[in-house]
Amino acid sequence: MKLLDGMTAIITGAASPRGLGKATARLFAQHGARVAILDLDADEAAEAAADLPGAGHTSGVCDVTDKAACDTVVADIIAQWGQVDVLVNNAGITQPLKLMEITPHNYDAVLDVNLRGTLYMSQAVIPHMRSRGQGSIVNMSSVSAQRGGGIFGGPHYSAAKAGILGLTKAMARELAAAGVRSNAICPGFIATDITAGKLTDDMRAQVLAGIPMGRAGTAEDVAGCALFLASNLSAYVTGSEVDVNGGSLIH
Ligand code: NAD
Repeated sequence: MKLLDGMTAIITGAASPRGLGKATARLFAQHGARVAILDLDADEAAEAAADLPGAGHTSGVCDVTDKAACDTVVADIIAQWGQVDVLVNNAGITQPLKLMEITPHNYDAVLDVNLRGTLYMSQAVIPHMRSRGQGSIVNMSSVSAQRGGGIFGGPHYSAAKAGILGLTKAMARELAAAGVRSNAICPGFIATDITAGKLTDDMRAQVLAGIPMGRAGTAEDVAGCALFLASNLSAYVTGSEVDVNGGSLIH
């Protein structure tokens, strides 16, 4: 059964070849959606879109910290497709810093991409989704928000991802009457390029020891959850935070 037949989705930060956004784009495309891949580099975004199964996908450059860029790229996609059913706010960066190491620049960088970007992209699609009386927004938070870090990202990353949970729930409350849903995913430790080459063997062993399922998650594990939240299978789910963490946080 194809869960997204006739639907369209915008996914930010989806050019990273082994990333959560790309795996989500692939699964959405397999389920019949047309997907718009947005990222910082035009060629990489175009390459990622060309690699998706099925036809009609598109790509664009969008730094999610730039409000005008978010508005412009979303307007272009709406003009091209006439509809946007799903937004996945996936773009994110992290930094392995301790509390006292965080400079103003570090703080701005991490808060801006993760949290400000989620707000700006949501603001760009909401008027359109409201006008159609439907839409699903899926925000990539992290287990780091719920347990105060402990894997890779510093306190500013935990704060940004916790901010996403608050924003997700407030959006859910405000948009529910308009038929627009908003949910967050909290991935645990997933093997992607966000930590590639930056984790020591010791750090990796320590993280794995804390995962009851005994393995790192895969990008596909997260994509499956995004598919559920994007599709009508989750028609009555809004304001939720869904854990994809192998049991590393059971609460
Ligand atoms: P990744 O580094 O593979 O991909 C992130 C993508 O975001 C990259 O393609 C990058 O170019 C893009 N990006 C960065 N800044 C951007 C900006 N300003 N505008 C637009 N795009 C930008 O990372 P990933 O592991 O696939 O992570 C995806 C999301 O999942 C992130 O929000 C991350 O914080 C979150 N997450 C990841 C894990 C994990 O273990 N991998 C765990 C929890 C949450």
